[in-house]
Amino acid sequence: MHSSTHNAPKSKINCTSCQACCCRLEVMLISDTGVPAAHISVDEWGAETMLRLDDGWCSALNRENLLCSIYENRPWICREFEMGSYDCIAIQPVNLVNVINTKLIY
Ligand code: SF4
Ligand code: SF4
Repeated sequence: MHSSTHNAPKSKINCTSCQACCCRLEVMLISDTGVPAAHISVDEWGAETMLRLDDGWCSALNRENLLCSIYENRPWICREFEMGSYDCIAIQPVNLVNVINTKLIY
């Protein structure tokens, strides 16, 4: 039996109150949208992702207001990530706790 990862009510999920959870995910750069080089991390094989800092957030996130500082040039993946989508709901803190508990139990 598995715990649901959908305990966070969809109607309560909002970008203005979620602490930019999705900006902690690995974001691959698969097309050129003009992301400044200072925010790009390149691995040993040449793959590009958004740079993340020690606090876990993307370096392009404005820590003061939790808004994207490169919104007009944000990666394609960020443009496609929708508020209230399956992935958005799954990474809400209440659901991550459930996922962790599930892994501890099973
Ligand atoms: S898209 Fe979802 S995870 Fe990202 S900031 Fe908005 S509510 Fe949070
Ligand atoms: S580029 Fe902007 S929207 Fe995308 S992860 Fe970074 S801060 Fe968030």
